[in-house]
Amino acid sequence: MNMLPLILLTLVITVFNIFRSAAAMNAETQEDLMNLCYIVVNLYDCVYEGDYHIEDNGNIVHMMKGENLVDSDFSIIDSIKEKTGVDITFFDQDTRVITTIQTSDGVRAIGTKANDRVVKEVLKGGQPHFYSSTLVEGVRYFSYYEPLYASDGTCIGMIFLGKPSAEVERQICDSIGPIIIFGILTMLIVCFITICYSNKFVSAIRRTEAFVMTIAKGELHTKLDADILERKDELGQMGRCLLKMQRALQELVEQDILTGLYNRRSGEKLLKRTCENYRKSKVSFCIAIGDIDHFKNVNDTYGHECGDMALVKISERIKEHMQGKGFVARWGGEELLLVYDNVQLNTAVSYTEKLLEEIRAQRITYGGISFGVTMTFGIAEGDDRKIEHIIREADAKLYEGKNNGRNRIVYETGVALH
Ligand code: GH3
Ligand code: MG
Ligand code: MG
Repeated sequence: MNMLPLILLTLVITVFNIFRSAAAMNAETQEDLMNLCYIVVNLYDCVYEGDYHIEDNGNIVHMMKGENLVDSDFSIIDSIKEKTGVDITFFDQDTRVITTIQTSDGVRAIGTKANDRVVKEVLKGGQPHFYSSTLVEGVRYFSYYEPLYASDGTCIGMIFLGKPSAEVERQICDSIGPIIIFGILTMLIVCFITICYSNKFVSAIRRTEAFVMTIAKGELHTKLDADILERKDELGQMGRCLLKMQRALQELVEQDILTGLYNRRSGEKLLKRTCENYRKSKVSFCIAIGDIDHFKNVNDTYGHECGDMALVKISERIKEHMQGKGFVARWGGEELLLVYDNVQLNTAVSYTEKLLEEIRAQRITYGGISFGVTMTFGIAEGDDRKIEHIIREADAKLYEGKNNGRNRIVYETGVALH
């Protein structure tokens, strides 16, 4: 349907060209006939000296030129017809006296009459005339009529030169055919190229639209196809802007503003995915909930800003530690959730032990002061239980650790690593 304007435009151009060519061919044929008429008249003047006049012997009427009888010699008009295909007739008034035209019986159409319109417009009107369609002895002609004058100015008849219309039409068709074929071919090629290009473009628009719709549904990790992002046009530009928007949204929705860690919402989402993975494929996992010990004291002693900075530094340390092991999210306040993927409890414990050592060793410096913090962790191994139950278990162990002196890892009730 979107090709319709293009098809119409090509049709209009083709039809315009057809009419232009047909008009040009008509004009050319007219000029040919007019020139040929001039040549024939001059040829007769050269061959036969004197004026045209009609000699009436009672029974027989003859067309004369000077002393010469011209209506008995057909050699000139016959040879011209042979060379050019143009029929020639000399009229005595409206009656054919010399002609190359034959009747249906195969004899020359001598004695037959010109039609009324020609008589009126050429013979009586005294003006040469072209006709795109004159019927002579059952044959349609593209014709030219010119009055014939004696030297005293009296009109003694007419001369006719005509090309069978069928032949003129055939010539026109021969010259128009390539124009039509060229027009159609051009249209097909342009349509093909346009369809290919617009299909690609429409597909890219649809995929971009689907990307936006998926984001609008909250699926912030959907991917926009690389070929759209690589495009150099406005659509590619839009795709790259959407990607930036997607990243900004991801940060806004999923990240904790202070620490840059996943916030609680996305932490829960990721944990849910980990649990589903366990249920489907039995990929083991462990969770650890860690809380900074006596953090209120840090705020109270060094100020809230310093507390913020300490939280950021500890978060960075833990994020680094979790690389390739799982993820960490800010669970609330100074409490963090660590999820170890694809590990059993003993591995998770040894990872956390190493992490705790690093945290203990870390010095936090702020405005000339330097201090350290410790953390307490509660670890639970993931299984088929509901997420809340696993979290509750890790939480309970964390508080067990807090109650038993902090700065430790509790992974089994009553068992802690210091
Ligand atoms: P515990 O060892 O029992 O965990 O002691 P605690 O002082 O860490 O625990 P408590 O729950 O009494 O206090 C937590 C403190 O953490 C209180 C709160 O002001 C501080 N805190 C929570 N979030 C932030 C934060 O984003 N920035 C700062 N500076 N402090 C925070
Ligand atoms: Mg605390
Ligand atoms: Mg706390």
